[in-house]
Amino acid sequence: MIATVHVLHSKPSPIGSFLRVGHTGHRKLEALIAASRLRFRRFVFDATHVDDQKDLLATLQRAGCEIVLDPNAAETAMLGRFGSSVSTLPWGNPDRPWEPGDFGRTRNLDTAKAIAEFAVRHKIDAVLAPTHCIETFPSPWLSIDLRLCEELRHELDRAGGTHIPIDFQLITTNTLLKDQAAREALVAGIRHAPAENIWLRASGFGAAATGSATRAFIEASRSFHEINKPIIADYAGGLSALAAAAFGGVGGFSHGMNQKETFRIGDWRKPATGGGGSAKRIYVPELDRSFKEDQLNALFSVKGTRARFGCNDTTCCPHGMEDMLENPHRHFVIQRSRQIKNLSDAPEARRAEHFLLHHLDPAVRSARLASRLKFANGDVVKLINETKKRLTNLRDPLGDLHSTSASATRSAAPKFRGNDQNSQSAVG
Ligand SMILES: [Zn+2]
Repeated sequence: MIATVHVLHSKPSPIGSFLRVGHTGHRKLEALIAASRLRFRRFVFDATHVDDQKDLLATLQRAGCEIVLDPNAAETAMLGRFGSSVSTLPWGNPDRPWEPGDFGRTRNLDTAKAIAEFAVRHKIDAVLAPTHCIETFPSPWLSIDLRLCEELRHELDRAGGTHIPIDFQLITTNTLLKDQAAREALVAGIRHAPAENIWLRASGFGAAATGSATRAFIEASRSFHEINKPIIADYAGGLSALAAAAFGGVGGFSHGMNQKETFRIGDWRKPATGGGGSAKRIYVPELDRSFKEDQLNALFSVKGTRARFGCNDTTCCPHGMEDMLENPHRHFVIQRSRQIKNLSDAPEARRAEHFLLHHLDPAVRSARLASRLKFANGDVVKLINETKKRLTNLRDPLGDLHSTSASATRSAAPKFRGNDQNSQSAVG
């Protein structure tokens, strides 16, 4: 018996990693599945787009992957998003953004019932609670969202979805999370929500977060540990998200394929301007950022840069830079999953140190090296200088946090909820 316990504890629990399919991601994911290069086992589908992505959904379900539904409720209440495709959801409104006053007890529209039926119909494994952006403290949305979460549990049970867990998603700002009174109120409210995991999406945190913002997010996320449920950072990526997981602030994180790695609440407040197409961006893990194709070409035009920053992983990009440019999504997915695997293999108690020594320090050295090179392209010079500044500014706050974190609590890793039991241990 003792031996069994020992074996269980000797294997570190993997960091939970969720991939957001988004609007355009399904074709790229289909290509990755066809090429057997898909490393992720947990996927978040937007309710808004899932009907156009049924083939991908069925393929992933057959493969035993975990499917999480985001009902996109927050979007229906934001000026910059309500009129987008979320307006066609049964719980959307094409006329104006929903307001707290629309959610009185006498409301005709039954959001929770509509979402529950949608989740059951699509055979979803878990649903994010229909929550709204909490930008102020106190916020009128908190009590509404907690009630909606209760109602969703009730409606799922009624609709034949007793087996479908709810994850509570808190959508807020890093600034609000720094406010202790606000945090305590959120923790006190969410504590009793019928939820399995807590998703934390904070504007101001994400792939481009500064060192102090990253540290603040990690410290704030620790306040939620007393709820005793795994915490998942949403819209988070890059070294900042890896840091949050390595330091145990969160037990996992979620982002899209080289997108949705940062959440900017300001973009949701403004009337939508349309457009905003996604130019091809190529991930360079050594510098913790992505580059546009012309920027990457300018970076690689200097001698020695290909060997240092081109993909040297022959199982990912056998032809180096050419493959990076041709298949940037495959490259991104493989490299990100390698980072997560590498950190997951380190015992939890050593993960923060492992992150500093084997992820952050090499990135700082790479950025310093790049900043000494002579680039003809002014854009690239600026990007490299920004990158160097951001990475060196991550080091001190995180090094300091590590030295004061000996007794800090850690979030548990989220449990795998797909049908493929083997992937529980193989992939986080
Ligand atoms: Zn590659």
